[in-house]
This record gives sequence, structure tokens and C-alpha cells, in this order.
Amino acid sequence: MKNRNEIAAVEFPVSPIRIRQCKCGCGYEFQPNRKDQLYIDKRHYDFDYNQNKRKVKNKHIIETEKQLRLNNRVLEKHYKAKIESQKKEPVKCYFDILKAEAFSTKNYMGISEEGSKIFYFLYDYYYRLFRNTNNQLIIEIYKHK
Ligand SMILES: [Zn+2]
Repeated sequence: MKNRNEIAAVEFPVSPIRIRQCKCGCGYEFQPNRKDQLYIDKRHYDFDYNQNKRKVKNKHIIETEKQLRLNNRVLEKHYKAKIESQKKEPVKCYFDILKAEAFSTKNYMGISEEGSKIFYFLYDYYYRLFRNTNNQLIIEIYKHK
């Protein structure tokens, strides 16, 4: 519990620089020695710096994984919608339709070449792209066995 003197010190700091909260997120308040001092000390600064570096690094991983899951989901949706009527693989769709559902060819988990065919792998499905005689981009969808 704070006594009267401590409260007075917070309300009327002796230093002309106001007490501020450390920028690292530790929750501690401190009396800065300089106007531009944002952290209690170098330890708190380093902690914040490393945390942010990790966050930026993970941000990229998180976004990539999100896109991979979305891609997988879009493939699954079209595969399931057509496999019943088509009876056999692969399921064929216009690529533009998948693209409109935010499917992206930038992210995939693996790649396999079989002759002139290139297959791109996702979690449960894989696909290849080609142009039909009308020059439309077609996606062939397969399910992992
Ligand atoms: Zn801190």
C-alpha cells in the first residue's frame, strides 16, 4: 500500500520528466533520466527488441500457414462438390473460380514432377494447372490416398 509521500511523489515528480510506463510491456513505471528514455534499462529494451523480432518472424509463418489452410479448404470444397458426379479423379475446375475464393498458387507444401506434369501439394489435396484449347486456365484436383 502506498503511503502519502509516495502518492505525492507520483503526482508531483521531483524530476521535470514525468514518470512513464516501460515500453517493453512489463507494466512497471519508472522515472526516466532523459526525455527519450522509453525503457527502464537495457535489459527491458533488449527484451522488447527480441519479442518484436520474434513477432515479425512468426507473423510471416502465421500468414503462410493461413494461406495453406485456405488453399486446402478451397480444393476440398471443389473436390467434394464434383467427385460424386465425376466418379473419378481428377476433379477439374476453372482456376478463376478458385482464385476468386482467395486460392493462391504462391503457397504450397511440396512439388512433384511426373514427366511434363507438375503437381503442387497441400495437406489433403494436390493439384496441377494447365490451359485448355480455349486458353483457359484449368485446375485438376486430386486427393491424397
Ligand atoms: Zn520493461
